Amino acid sequence: MKSLFFIFGIVFSTTVALHNSAQAEPQFIFSDDVAQGVRKNISIGVQAGEDFFKTRLGIIFSKSFSVVASNTDSFRKRNVPAKFYDSNCNGGYANPRFFVICAESESFNRNQFAGGLDVQQRVISLHEYVHVLQFEFTKISAEPAWFQEGFAEHVVLLYKEKLGITNKKQELAWQRGLARTLKYSLEQLEGRDRFNKSDKSVSAGMIAIADLEGRSGFQAFSTYYRLRGKGVSWKKAYEQAFGVTTKEFYAGLQL
Ligand SMILES: [Zn+2]
Repeated sequence: MKSLFFIFGIVFSTTVALHNSAQAEPQFIFSDDVAQGVRKNISIGVQAGEDFFKTRLGIIFSKSFSVVASNTDSFRKRNVPAKFYDSNCNGGYANPRFFVICAESESFNRNQFAGGLDVQQRVISLHEYVHVLQFEFTKISAEPAWFQEGFAEHVVLLYKEKLGITNKKQELAWQRGLARTLKYSLEQLEGRDRFNKSDKSVSAGMIAIADLEGRSGFQAFSTYYRLRGKGVSWKKAYEQAFGVTTKEFYAGLQL
C-alpha cells in the first residue's frame, strides 16, 4: 500500500509540475515583406500545436523558441544560425528551439487542400512546431524518420479533422493506398536518406502511427516522449510506451 502511494505520488507531482509551468511565448522573426495573412496563419498553426500538446499529451512547452519567416533566402541566412541554415527550403524546416518558414516556396503556397491556402499555411506551421517539440524530447538524429514525420502529419490530420475538413478514416485509407506502392519497408524508412527518396514515405509513417494509436491509445505517445525526454533510447521508449518491440511491430504491420 505504501509503495502504491509512493508511485501515485510521483505520477501526480510530475503532472502538476508540467501544468504549472507557463507556456512560452514564441518569438516571431518576420521579414517586412511577409503579408499579414501569412503572419496570422503561422501564429494560428503554432497555437494549434500548443493546444494539441497541452490537451492531448499533457505537455506544455515552457522553453522559449523562435519562428523565422521570410520571402527571401537572404533574410533567413541572416537570422538562422549558420549550422542550421538550409538553402534548400520548401515549406519550412525545424531545428531545436526554432522553425523556419519559407513563405515564397511552392509548398507554402500550394492551394490544394480542402480549407484553402490559409489551412495549408497553418498546417505547415503546425507540422514544424511538432518537430520543435520532438527536438526538445529527443535527439532528432536518433529518431526514426518515419516516426518523426508520421507523428507530425498525424497531428496535422487530427487538426484538419477537428476543423471538419477531412475524415480521418478516409484520409488514412488514401494514405494506405499510397504507402502500398512504396518499395521500402517501414524499417528501411528509419533513415532520413532513404525516407527522403519518396513522397510516399510519409504515408507509410502515418499508417504506422495510426496503427500505434489504435493499439495503445493516444496517451502512449505522451509516455513515449516523456521517456525520450529522460534520455531513454527510442527503441526502449517505444517498447515501454506501446507494449511492442519495433521488431514485432515491423513484422505485424499491414500497410
Ligand atoms: Zn517534417
